[in-house]
Amino acid sequence: MKILCILYDDPKSGMPKNYPLPNLPKLKKYPDGMTLPTPKSIDFNPGELLGCVSGELGLRKFLESNGHQLVVTSDKDADGCKADKELVDSDIVISQPFWPYYLTRNRIESAKKLKMAITAGIGSDHVDLQAAMDHKIDVVEVTYCNSRSVAEHIVMMILSLVRDYHNQHKIVKDGGWNIADAVQRSYDVEGMHVGTVAAGRIGLDALRKMKPFDVHLHYFDRHKLPDSVEKELNLTFHESVESLVKVCDVVTINCPLHPETENLFDDKLINKMKKGAYIVNTARGKICNREAIAKALKSGQLSGYAGDVWFPQPAPNDHIWRSMPNHGMTPHTSGTSLTAQARYAAGVREILECFFEKKPIRDPYLIIKDGQLAGMGAHSYSKGSATGGSEEAAKYKK
Ligand code: NDP
Repeated sequence: MKILCILYDDPKSGMPKNYPLPNLPKLKKYPDGMTLPTPKSIDFNPGELLGCVSGELGLRKFLESNGHQLVVTSDKDADGCKADKELVDSDIVISQPFWPYYLTRNRIESAKKLKMAITAGIGSDHVDLQAAMDHKIDVVEVTYCNSRSVAEHIVMMILSLVRDYHNQHKIVKDGGWNIADAVQRSYDVEGMHVGTVAAGRIGLDALRKMKPFDVHLHYFDRHKLPDSVEKELNLTFHESVESLVKVCDVVTINCPLHPETENLFDDKLINKMKKGAYIVNTARGKICNREAIAKALKSGQLSGYAGDVWFPQPAPNDHIWRSMPNHGMTPHTSGTSLTAQARYAAGVREILECFFEKKPIRDPYLIIKDGQLAGMGAHSYSKGSATGGSEEAAKYKK
């Protein structure tokens, strides 16, 4: 079989010769008891760069020794890109949300042999899920592999926004010492109201991680959490996103991108937020309206915006979020720490082993199976597509 793998570029200075830490902590299970990926074996050293082109998710030896062809590229956006050329006779395509190969309907329809799209990570919104259902292409992702990595990033971003870390760090880097400049937007998070839109694996973990800061915790989700969890965290449940944003100083967004959540944070919703609130969005860029966020930061309706997700990706060089005031954006990195890469590379290997051996892929990994939303997909996504406008990614110039 032919496996097409789209990964982000190698470091500009080439693959690292060594890494800061000699090895990674060993985790046994995820917090709800789910096991970490369980491939029969792996051909990489956990802690090495795996998500870039030369890292190849550690798959080449395994695939080639089993008679398969592996094509790896980062060239994924402009007309005539390598990924489009290779897709037409590929059986499996692997892509990462950090450097998404947008599997639009046109692309899906050009790939007559395509059987499965694997997300090396979590979040399969870069696939036109409706087209995948129509053409019976299975879609799977490595559920839980980087959820806790993202929750850590959320805590970092909430604290860095509220305390105004980025500005203070810049003053030092620029050789300065004006403390009044450094603190004129700096607050403690203690006592604030912090709420999450969606309390799934990431949202709930972010709430748990924020609890020791003595904040008031809120959530909105389609399903209520068990009473025991609400009690443990002293949580306030909101029946609507409007009700949550009205009372929160900090809102973190943790739902998948699908037609129900696309453009959720538009002018109207942002204007219902508490004046001067902060947003941390590590879910997907398209959940927030690009112009509305920039406008609210300018007017002071929002005091800060941070996250690592953009639309499209890579973000065009002139994307307004790169230059808006009081933002703490990173490129899409929260779920691709070296730690997380080891888990999702092992998860992809597990999925491929199951596929080749015709064994069932774990139910929690399924988004679409046999033309229907299945597994996690049936729980968390809705039908339709959120890939519209993704061709703008070709505007990014290295
Ligand atoms: P989960 O599936 O565990 O959680 C998703 C939650 O979103 C569920 O609780 C689900 O609710 C809820 N939800 C779905 N639709 C809505 C809606 N319309 N309104 C409110 N809640 C909704 O996934 P994770 O927590 O692991 O990941 C969440 C998202 O985070 C991913 O889909 C991905 O987009 C993003 N992500 C980003 C990463 C990064 O690197 N920045 C890495 C990993 C994920 P219910 O179950 O009650 O239906």
